Amino acid sequence: MIIDLHSHTTFSDGALTPLELMTRAIEKKVDVLAITDHDTMDAYRDLPASHDRLKLVPGIEFSTQWLNTGIHVLGLNVDPGSDALNTGVQFQSDARLERARRIGENLAKKGIKDAFTGASQITKGSYIGRPHFAQHLINIGKVKSMQAAFKHYMGDGKAGDVKQHWAELPQIVQWIRDAGGIPVLAHPLKYKLTRTKLKRLLDQFLQAGGQGMEVISGQQLPYQTANLAQLCEQKKLLASCGSDFHGPGKRWAELGVFATLPKNVTPVWERF
Ligand code: AMP
Ligand code: MN
Ligand code: MN
Ligand code: MN
Repeated sequence: MIIDLHSHTTFSDGALTPLELMTRAIEKKVDVLAITDHDTMDAYRDLPASHDRLKLVPGIEFSTQWLNTGIHVLGLNVDPGSDALNTGVQFQSDARLERARRIGENLAKKGIKDAFTGASQITKGSYIGRPHFAQHLINIGKVKSMQAAFKHYMGDGKAGDVKQHWAELPQIVQWIRDAGGIPVLAHPLKYKLTRTKLKRLLDQFLQAGGQGMEVISGQQLPYQTANLAQLCEQKKLLASCGSDFHGPGKRWAELGVFATLPKNVTPVWERF
């Protein structure tokens, strides 16, 4: 069984439409797929809940912050029609729009005019994020690649990295729980926290009602997986795994292509 519980579509910053993503997942022999777009569940609107060869698990990836670090929390197996979840999605969407305006203003101060309009024209859904600004910077010839756009304009501490007050971690966990879902801390290694800090984050996440963490996120080294599995066991968290697929290409892992979960953890899907 190949179970991939983290992926993106054109409704956030992915390259494939939901149907294209499903088709690719089937090609890659994925059995269970969660589409987890950033702060939106729009991808699920036009999709069948099941398919002969692929089971879909409704999911979302919420943005929040912990201390000064941007953190992502997956809501897995949520009810897409939940009022709580829709309140959350609306709140985050308003926050995103406000932030995008501020990113536009910051870029204008750097001499790049109309970036907000440019980014808005690129996005297909309610999500407007830094990747759309980055694409706009490529389109107008300011930079040559996504990587360069993030390095010079959109990455940590740069003009386009507007600190945003997303909903707080406990609020996000609550929305997911109210929607019958399982809150899972996404890609814990991406935050570059010390082990002590990561443990503190996990304690607060658990206290808020968090239940799982990604032990495997795309391609990672065996020792990293072993470390995360050990943390997962210690903190009695459920373990999740996913590619975080955004599109075909080198930067992102392929759908369904990652190591299997170690034996010493409880897979999150046992609670679906
Ligand atoms: P946002 O949700 O607006 O904060 O944008 C964050 C998204 O930008 C992440 O989910 C990634 O998909 C993407 N991203 C972050 N850093 C980079 C990078 N260096 N190069 C390309 N994409 C990136
Ligand atoms: Mn993304
Ligand atoms: Mn993420
Ligand atoms: Mn993601």
